[in-house]
Amino acid sequence: MYGYGGNILRINLTTGEMNIQPLSQDMAREWIGQRGFIAKILWDELKPGIDPLGPANKLVMSTGPLAGTLVPAGGKVSFGAKSPATGIYGESCMGGHIAAEMKYAGYDVIILEGASSKPCYIYIKDDQVEIRDASHLWGKGAIQTEKALKDELGEEFQICTIGPAGEKLVKYACISHDFGRQAGRTGMGTVMGSKKVKAIAICGHNSIPLADLEATVVKGKEMLKGCFAKENLDEWQNYGTAGVPVWANNIGAFPTKNFQSSYLEGNENLDGKIMREKMVVNDKGCFGCPSPCGKYCYVKPYNVYTEGPEYETTALIGGNCVFTDIEQIGYLNYLCDELGLDTISAGNVIGFAMECFEKGILTREQVGMELKFGDLESFKYLVEKIAAREGIGNILAEGVKYAAEQFGGDSIKFAIQVKGLEWSGYESRSAPSNMLAYMTCDLGAHHNRAWSVTHDIAVGRKVLEGKARKVIELQHIRPFFDLIGCCRLQWVEIGFELEHYPEVLRYVTGFDYSQDDLMKISEKVWNLTRAFAWREIEDFGRKYDYPPARFYEETVTTGPNAGDVLSKEELDFLLDDYYKLRGWDLNGLPTREKLEQMGLGFVVRQLESYGRKI
Ligand code: SF4
Repeated sequence: MYGYGGNILRINLTTGEMNIQPLSQDMAREWIGQRGFIAKILWDELKPGIDPLGPANKLVMSTGPLAGTLVPAGGKVSFGAKSPATGIYGESCMGGHIAAEMKYAGYDVIILEGASSKPCYIYIKDDQVEIRDASHLWGKGAIQTEKALKDELGEEFQICTIGPAGEKLVKYACISHDFGRQAGRTGMGTVMGSKKVKAIAICGHNSIPLADLEATVVKGKEMLKGCFAKENLDEWQNYGTAGVPVWANNIGAFPTKNFQSSYLEGNENLDGKIMREKMVVNDKGCFGCPSPCGKYCYVKPYNVYTEGPEYETTALIGGNCVFTDIEQIGYLNYLCDELGLDTISAGNVIGFAMECFEKGILTREQVGMELKFGDLESFKYLVEKIAAREGIGNILAEGVKYAAEQFGGDSIKFAIQVKGLEWSGYESRSAPSNMLAYMTCDLGAHHNRAWSVTHDIAVGRKVLEGKARKVIELQHIRPFFDLIGCCRLQWVEIGFELEHYPEVLRYVTGFDYSQDDLMKISEKVWNLTRAFAWREIEDFGRKYDYPPARFYEETVTTGPNAGDVLSKEELDFLLDDYYKLRGWDLNGLPTREKLEQMGLGFVVRQLESYGRKI
């Protein structure tokens, strides 16, 4: 089949059985790839109510049709499963080179089922697939493990791994690859750890058949040239997302002191130029990337190498835990990467613990030491305890929502999460559309699906009208890139035009999609993942879309937006508008009409069979 590896590889870790099935033409055309395949497979194959960390959960790794081709930045892969962090649909995407390798080995999807009784890793060399012993790797850091397997298997293998946090089932453990790229969110590393899979190593030698090779070459070159011609390419390449913290602070969106404020004193020290001078040794890009944003760093005072920190890490470890020294943040980023922890959730959880300590909700006796914002030892102590699930770390390892439920007081008000997923790095009390985007994200409070702070600035930060429409538009465009196996940052950051993608998809796959068709498929997946949450949680609906009370009861404390808050009434206005435009009911549940119109009649039947009144 054109544009695809052509196969689905299924590995049962309980029985050791393996099975390679051809990918069907219908599946490819209707769901495109990556997130589309993951959502459909998880809907079809998971029974509601299963334990996310039990053998009945499945970890699905999938990429899309443009991955591994010469279309710029075709290097993305996603992992999906029922999330142990949220209990609903979980998914996280990652760059690097493993997506292309997977295609060259002949696979668009790899499904891990069951659970191994002992540590193992998956060895894939084209159609040679083995479950190998990993007892010599268990306990090692995520980056150390990748290095050890590269030494063992050879440089030509592309490898993804988990760290000790994944082994210990910390709910926000990530999957790592390429010495610093992560599928960080929703605990996909936790699911991999629950299956006792330490790593997946892939080496492929096949080529990807293309519907029109000549046209793909011409179009691919045109797209590359188009990216190279973009005005802000140099700025983006020089700093990547490390160029964002100062801007975010100046507009009052930088999470500070567990989101009490949106402005950090001393944030100018986190500037990308300073990071470049002090730490960056090389730029680093994913497969086929024309605009490499990775910054490979040496952090001299701590004698460690690390990729990044990128913006979200600097926001959540830096601002949220009040660090203004970029080398300290670089070091803490390295610790999280090696332990295999999502830096967004880790920074969020630790900032929350620091505030609990400051407010007397946590004591020295409970924690084992005194916690302080901006104190390197406090962060280091907690992150190691979390990864080992020792003492207070065993509670914090469950995520900020669970921790607040245990600590009590009014801590649930400042546990910064939605649906159990810790909030990404933008304080949004002065950005209603961005607030709505994180509230309604199908995964929990995550920036991957829609990010709209610049829209709020452009049309007015107090304006509510029209915000829902913009959020919905973005929730279809941004995740569209997670259908095709391509990075979205060329579109987001350097202004590369969307119009190129339907055309190049036609040359690669032979499927003649219009832009509108592609957005409809993205919308269909959106409705499916929302329905997934409802299938899991009987009383799912509007109440799961609210942010923590801090965002509607407390005003921003300092900086340009001091005094700002979004009231519950304003949040309800945004939600009402959003649900209406989506064709959902006022409780935020997809209606029969909407699902059928999207071609999701099978979802209606399943929901009904589980007693949902639709
Ligand atoms: Fe990877 Fe950054 Fe390039 Fe995207 S822009 S493909 S994340 S290096």
